[in-house]
Amino acid sequence: MNIPVSKPDISHLEREYALRAIENGFISGVAGEFLNRFDSEFAKFLGCKYSANCSNGTTAIHLALKALDIKKGDEVLVSTTTNMATFFAVIYCGAKPIPIDIDSITFNMCPYDLERKITKKSKAILVVHLFGHPAPMKKISEIAKKFDLKIIEDCAEVHGGEILNKKAGTFGDISAWSFFGNKILSTGEGGAVTTNNPDLYEKVLSLKSLSYGKGSNRFFHTDIGFNYRMTNVTAAIGVAQIERSKELISKRINVCRFYSENLKDFQDVFQLPVELEGYRNVYWMYHLNLTSGCLEDRLNVMNYLEESGVQTRPGFVPGHLQPVFKKSGIYNELDCPNASKIAYTTLYLPTFTTISNTEQLYVIEKLLEAKQRFLI
Ligand SMILES: *Cc1c(COP(=O)(O)O)cnc(C)c1O
Repeated sequence: MNIPVSKPDISHLEREYALRAIENGFISGVAGEFLNRFDSEFAKFLGCKYSANCSNGTTAIHLALKALDIKKGDEVLVSTTTNMATFFAVIYCGAKPIPIDIDSITFNMCPYDLERKITKKSKAILVVHLFGHPAPMKKISEIAKKFDLKIIEDCAEVHGGEILNKKAGTFGDISAWSFFGNKILSTGEGGAVTTNNPDLYEKVLSLKSLSYGKGSNRFFHTDIGFNYRMTNVTAAIGVAQIERSKELISKRINVCRFYSENLKDFQDVFQLPVELEGYRNVYWMYHLNLTSGCLEDRLNVMNYLEESGVQTRPGFVPGHLQPVFKKSGIYNELDCPNASKIAYTTLYLPTFTTISNTEQLYVIEKLLEAKQRFLI
């Protein structure tokens, strides 16, 4: 067996659309039917007004922060357990990311720690919907309102996730999406910024394409923009993925439920993903915590699986523990105790829509063998 941790699900439809984009000669990022279609169909999928495509999830977060005018001297409150793109985008703006601890059940931002860390410099909350389980947006929105803070949702892992039948990515002021090769909907590399606010949308459109002038001369620039464009070929793949979104999301959920059914008797050793009442978890990755494990246990389990042909990945190292920030001494291990506690004991299993039943059973068998060997 040789089972990768992730694999994109590309059908004849993606091929057909991408080929059409190439044959029509529209391969760049300023014109072509699929760019507009991707934007309007993604906005429709979410139930929001505007979606602007861009080059990837990191640039999407950067654009969202810039549209909100986040700058030097500002603090942005960020879920600490995340892909470091979330932190880096704040730093690109010259602002300081303030790591916010997570709850120990979904590993999403903890509203109590959030409120505790607000200062006069706080400008915005950058909340991550981690591993497909939406964050507690009701509480976070109440806090944002109370302290007059903007909300940016990092939606890179939550395509199709919901809270009380409302899509994740429609709760804050602006949302950033990734369509990287391993995400729930994927264009290889790709991103989008979504919002209901027409002013923010206009700013994003301008900034993502070098802020060309709108008057008589497009080379009179109105701002210092970026080239964060998506190509029409990439958008073509995206349009196909949105058309197939129902199937892609439900298949992924079924794959993860199958893992859970087969691991539910071993919850003393494995902390499994949950779905809190009122939420729809779309399980970006099947993420496990070795409840009583340590760094070495995880290494042993991952090595055993690797040798058996099963690829896994360790969970994210939270922002406040990153070596890159250590030398500046801005963060402390005690900043976020819940996140520190699981920082080196989580991993994720192969999670992709086309994994077969036989392959999944094999992953489970090898995981349980590893448990016998290393975790009792
Ligand atoms: C993947 C991911 C990103 C970065 O997206 P890219 O498209 O790889 O730039 C940002 N935030 C989170 C939470 C992610 O999972």
